[in-house]
Amino acid sequence: MATDVLAAWRGAVKRYGAITALDGLDLEIHAGELVALLGVNGAGKTTALGLITGELAPDAGRVELFGGDPALPARRARLGVMLQEAELPETLKVGELVHLQTRYFDAPMAIDRTLALAGLESLGDRRYEQLSGGQKRRVQFALALAGDPALMLIDEPTTGLDVGARRQFWQVIRDLKARGVSIVLTTHYLEEADALADRIVVIGRGRVIAEGTPREIKSRASGRRISARSVLPLDRVRGFAHVAQASAIDGRIHLTSARVEDVLREWLAADDELADLTVEALSLEDAFVELTREPAP
Ligand code: ATP
Repeated sequence: MATDVLAAWRGAVKRYGAITALDGLDLEIHAGELVALLGVNGAGKTTALGLITGELAPDAGRVELFGGDPALPARRARLGVMLQEAELPETLKVGELVHLQTRYFDAPMAIDRTLALAGLESLGDRRYEQLSGGQKRRVQFALALAGDPALMLIDEPTTGLDVGARRQFWQVIRDLKARGVSIVLTTHYLEEADALADRIVVIGRGRVIAEGTPREIKSRASGRRISARSVLPLDRVRGFAHVAQASAIDGRIHLTSARVEDVLREWLAADDELADLTVEALSLEDAFVELTREPAP
């Protein structure tokens, strides 16, 4: 095994009764990387993290944390985990919560440093119940940091946060990565993956269906996005030659195509009133939709 592999799923299978949540997942996380796991609801992202934390055991295949079995407590001590939901004692102060958490570790991070890295310097004396949603997520992040981890697993860190709080959180994650900590995060915000990740791994039905830098993933969806106001019904436009996907949002029709000029000729010929036309490069979202689209029955 390469020495810089911090975590690995090797043909990992996990079943819940009749449901196969992971179906032979193969993935390695390397030192210094920030990897974003993307996938539609139920794709297997949380289950994949649960195998690395040792909370779940694979039904087949292997899972490695720092080169061995994740069940070993000494290995888990170097892992920081922030899950989707956390119940914390509401009346304790932020500094007290972090202090309590450091007691689980032999070599914890200094409390001041933990608070600073999580952007909580000015909130150490505030009770948890008095915090905003974004501040609470940063406290949960601080608790995951308290053991001075080499690898962090973060499940949907910014779900439900407003744009400002999300961006503050991104900065916290970037600062941590700059310190050399490796991070695996799951997200449904493709902009988040685009902004933070060195590598994006798209999971579908419990397997890796695509991986690469954000730029590489975007290039997997070939073509461009065209958008315009049209008097034509969506189904008519969807039926034009060379249209990959089409949708109607807020009175505009959006479509993607690898043959933009052909589509435009057909559309302009069919609709004299076509207006507000734009043609743009495909976004990560377009690529994601294309990669995770279920084949027609
Ligand atoms: P989301 O984006 O919605 O959080 P996910 O990609 O994290 O989804 P998982 O939570 O890993 O997906 O779930 C994968 C599959 O396993 C889903 O079909 C889910 O319903 C199922 N599953 C997960 N946990 C359990 C459980 N404890 N018991 C039964 N089925 C489960």
